[in-house]
This record gives sequence, C-alpha cells and structure tokens, in this order.
Amino acid sequence: MARTKLLQDKHLWNAIPEMAADRENGHPLAAEDLASQIQDFIIAQNLSEGARLPSERDLAKMFGTSRPTVSQAIRILVVKGLIQSRRGSGSYVTRRPQESLAASVNLMLDLDRDSVHHLNDLRLWLETMGIVEAVERGTDAEIAAGEAALELLKESTGDISAWMSADTEFHSTLVRASHNPYLSSIFESVHTTLIEYEYRVWVDKGTVPKWLRKTEAAAVTAIHEPILQAFKNRDAEAGKIAVLHHHYVMAQHLIASHSE
Ligand SMILES: [Zn+2]
Repeated sequence: MARTKLLQDKHLWNAIPEMAADRENGHPLAAEDLASQIQDFIIAQNLSEGARLPSERDLAKMFGTSRPTVSQAIRILVVKGLIQSRRGSGSYVTRRPQESLAASVNLMLDLDRDSVHHLNDLRLWLETMGIVEAVERGTDAEIAAGEAALELLKESTGDISAWMSADTEFHSTLVRASHNPYLSSIFESVHTTLIEYEYRVWVDKGTVPKWLRKTEAAAVTAIHEPILQAFKNRDAEAGKIAVLHHHYVMAQHLIASHSE
C-alpha cells in the first residue's frame, strides 16, 4: 500500500496555474486534457509513491475548471494506475501503470475468448525469456526468494485462491530475476489474466480440481521445482525445458479439469 506521506511542499503545485493559463482561449478544459496535464506534472516533478494531490476543489481552482471535470480527470488517472483515490482521504500518486496493462489484457480476452491459446503461447514465450535472462542475471537473494515461493506453492495445494496467488508469485519471482521490468510486468499481466480465466470455474464453485488436491502436492511441486533448479544451476537450456514441461502439463490438467 502506498505510503500516506502528505505532499508538504505546496510550492510544487504553484506551477499549475501557469500551465492552466496556457490553454486555448479560455475554452473549458476537457477531462482528458486535464488528466494529461496532471500526469505531465507528476512526471516532471517526479512525485513519489504516496505523494498526496491537492483536493479536488483546489485542483478545480488551480486549473480554472469545474469539480466534475477534476473528478473525471482523476478517474482517468486511477484507471492508468498513476493515482489512487481513497474515500474521504483524497488522491495519492501510485506509479503502478502496469495495473492498466493487466486490465487491457483482460479486456482483450473478454472480447475474444477464442484467443486464450494465443495468450497461453505468449505466457510460455515470456516465461522462457524470463528464465533464460534470470539464469544470466539473477542474484542469490532472488534464488532464495524462488525457494520461499516454491515452499508457499507446496503449502497452497488444496486451496484454489491460495494456490492461484502462490503460483503467480512463484513464476513472477523467477521472471523478475530477469531484471527487465517490462518483461516482468507484461508477464505478470498475462499470467494473472490467464490464471483468473482458467480457474474462475473452481473459484465460483468453491471447489478444487482433482490434480490440485492436497494429496497431489508432490506432483504439483514436480512441475515447478525443475524451473527453480535450472535457475539455481545457472542452466538456461534446462530452464527452457522445465518451463515448456510446466506449460504442457498445465495445459493437459486444464483440459481434463474443465471436462470433470
Ligand atoms: Zn505454475
């Protein structure tokens, strides 16, 4: 959660009226334009996570616009993952644009359910690149994080929600070790979208597929452990094979489970 640090330096926001005055001949500012100006300001001032924005009323005054326009602009920036709105408390900088990435991938899948196999392919390619780069660049601390994530995964079998987040954490931890923030953010968005899509039926029913029961913990571990092992051994080829094996076994599980 973002720190609730207040943006003490009021001078920072004094630049706003000048920016607002630049707008065309007194036409009312559209919410989209206002959102862009606030976004540019956050970037230009390098406002940190948790920095508090002036109130909607103050922003309306600064930009010479109405409160509803400010509210709309704030909502646009919330969707972009740049701002978080807290009821009764105001708006804060979040710097998590990757959240809108996940929302877009989700929407693409919702609009075209038949494209799920393309998304699954992309997941495989991204994770393959991730493990190859992790083998090259990953640190010992990241290997330790992978081990902890695998332990969590073992303990989570039998509980669908716990398993979904533990599986996400395991794969994401290894891909993050690639040290490429774009690769890890895109991977996480794709992985999360897929896992939520594929496991929705069990989440809704409150049940667990046969292969994910508590008694199957060893089998579930067996398809994940070799990925971590390859990372530990700094063996990119073994990593690629382990990721591919996980991909095929999971695909078979999912096909079988959906016909249960
Ligand atoms: Zn997995």
